[in-house]
Amino acid sequence: MAAFVDVIIPVPLQGLFTYALPVGLQKQAQAGCRVVVPFGNKRSTTGIIVRLHDNPPTDPTVNVKDIMEIVDEEPCILPSQLSLWQWIADYYVCSIGEVFKAAVPAKLRKQAKASIPDKGKGNAKGQASSQNSYTLPLEGEQGYGVLPELSPAQSAALAAIKENWKAHPVCLLHGVTSSGKTEVYIHLIAEAIAQGKQVLYLLPEIVLTSQLTDRLQAVFGDRLGVYHSKFTDVQRSHVWQRQLSDKPFDIIVGVRSSVFLPFQRLGLVIVDEEHEVNFKQQEPAPRYNARNVALIMASRFKALTLLGTATPSFESYYLARTGKYGLVELNERYGQVQLPRIEIVDVKELRRKRLMNGAFSQRLIEEIRLALDTHQQVILFQNRRGYAPQVQCHVCGWVPTCPRCDVPMTMHARSGMMTCHYCGYTVPVPNQCPACENKDLRQHGFGTERVEEDIRKLFPEARIARMDLDTTTTRQAYEQIIHDFANGETDILVGTQMVTKGLDFENVSVVGILSADTMLNQPDFRAYERSFQMMAQVAGRAGRRARQGTVILQTMNKELPLIAQVVANDYGAAYHDQMLERRQFAYPPFTRLVVVYVKHRQLSTVEALAREVTVSLRQLLGTRVLGPDEPPVGRVHNLYIRRIMLKLENRLPISSIKEQLSNLRNQLLAQKPYASATIFFDVDPL
Ligand code: ADP
Ligand code: ZN
Ligand code: ZN
Repeated sequence: MAAFVDVIIPVPLQGLFTYALPVGLQKQAQAGCRVVVPFGNKRSTTGIIVRLHDNPPTDPTVNVKDIMEIVDEEPCILPSQLSLWQWIADYYVCSIGEVFKAAVPAKLRKQAKASIPDKGKGNAKGQASSQNSYTLPLEGEQGYGVLPELSPAQSAALAAIKENWKAHPVCLLHGVTSSGKTEVYIHLIAEAIAQGKQVLYLLPEIVLTSQLTDRLQAVFGDRLGVYHSKFTDVQRSHVWQRQLSDKPFDIIVGVRSSVFLPFQRLGLVIVDEEHEVNFKQQEPAPRYNARNVALIMASRFKALTLLGTATPSFESYYLARTGKYGLVELNERYGQVQLPRIEIVDVKELRRKRLMNGAFSQRLIEEIRLALDTHQQVILFQNRRGYAPQVQCHVCGWVPTCPRCDVPMTMHARSGMMTCHYCGYTVPVPNQCPACENKDLRQHGFGTERVEEDIRKLFPEARIARMDLDTTTTRQAYEQIIHDFANGETDILVGTQMVTKGLDFENVSVVGILSADTMLNQPDFRAYERSFQMMAQVAGRAGRRARQGTVILQTMNKELPLIAQVVANDYGAAYHDQMLERRQFAYPPFTRLVVVYVKHRQLSTVEALAREVTVSLRQLLGTRVLGPDEPPVGRVHNLYIRRIMLKLENRLPISSIKEQLSNLRNQLLAQKPYASATIFFDVDPL
């Protein structure tokens, strides 16, 4: 029997930690079981056993401590999960402890003697159905509801996907908005579970889960489990436990963290809206892309994967075009409704002629009026929340900025506060300029809150709702907004990019894009791709049923080729244009990017460290190292930030480079002046 175990501890330190197994615990120890161990100056912490062995540490001065307790009778983490965690830690250059922390609900991470149900006792089921607020079991355990009958185009797509899967385990479904991709998915899911497989259905955005869950539940009843961060920790640990039991959900619908759930017989992964940036976790580590992790997980299970979207990420489309993925196109809307008509409004000219009514052009107002008169609905998309993105003293030009970050504060009118959208710092809007004491403080720009207020003034009789981060803090809140709009209890829905995603409402005849320019002006090589995707997606919310919808696209840059491509819904042209640039300037998919971030509270320290990182990396990678530079927001939460970008050709040995990155970080942070600095890596940044 093994005398030692290697344990994952939820800390950002590299590697595993070795503990001794007291004789009394040796029988119970298994990989994947939680253990309570002494760690650092904390009395104890909960870790996970990764392996058992008989090798005492090579360094004789190391004092190996004993395991205090083994929490589980049966593993709480499956071997497939442990190995996926290791892959994530290696690929995204972070510690496996950080992956552990992100992967496992806090309740399971902290608790001592636990309520993990033993296999076969069946109580997991009861717990799980109480967590799942959508449960209205339909046909019970054996069967499921009726599958939607597919249109000829959908049937052809379904057949083509299956055909493609014979040659490629990953297939990209490029189907225009409202082509009924979900119906195609439903057929594939039904086939997978009929074969005894499990299905993971990933969505980028929590607000999409409620609509989708209703549609899937109608067919699959209580075989469906939902998993996302707006569920309580207790609810999430129940789903986890149920997935370990002998009656796991056959289908899991969830956002990015559902890739961490235990699966026993995964056979199909669907990544809906695969192009979405939200699949990538930005902060904290692991900075993983759930789409890519899902692809890895699927390949390990030998499961099939379908990536679906109306606007593929250019990377995925490239892989499909070059034969790495299968590619299926679905070019008509369900019911053969035409794609919306997109009308451009030249805001630059209207401003010059003083013909804009705040954020609204006359054409947009007319279309909204028409929609209201004919009992249709309207979606207005503005890519900023809050009231005004900037407040400025009209006399001396003073602008309130966050004291902790280098950004202007956004004004929120309802609360009378200004908030930093980077760190959350919030203070009342001053009633006079602190610099010159003048009272003439003016608001610049339009956030969703102001759009909502202005539209109420223009259409006092209309019922108006707003969907953005501020109005959707709880699950109930966003479900209510979607429910009311779906049931025609709201006429106009104002929102941020949340309203651009795969929502399906039948009565929307008009979509207004208030300003295409905020997206275009991002200093990012993906700005073009993103703008196309966002505009095509939000346009796709219009006219999904009976007749063609109208999109009013307001822009200051009407001459850009991109705008014409959006109007023509010419994804191919947008892709083609961008590929030329990406190839020329060596951006993905022709290279891989890793961005190194350096942070410290002192400007001089961060600059010195960034220089050292750059010099060392240049020795290793030469001209592939760009920077250091200051990001658009150069200080957040009192920490100065510098970044260094690595552009790596696809053929380079990426794992050995990453190992060297990790070593370099450890080596630099071990030096005294940098002890309190942070270095982290963003692999495949989005
Ligand atoms: P997409 O995800 O491609 O944008 P959806 O799957 O949301 O499109 O489908 C658009 C609308 O058309 C939905 O309301 C859906 O219920 C309806 N629809 C699509 N296909 C069918 C079908 N085969 N039978 C009945 N309704 C369908
Ligand atoms: Zn002033
Ligand atoms: Zn701030």
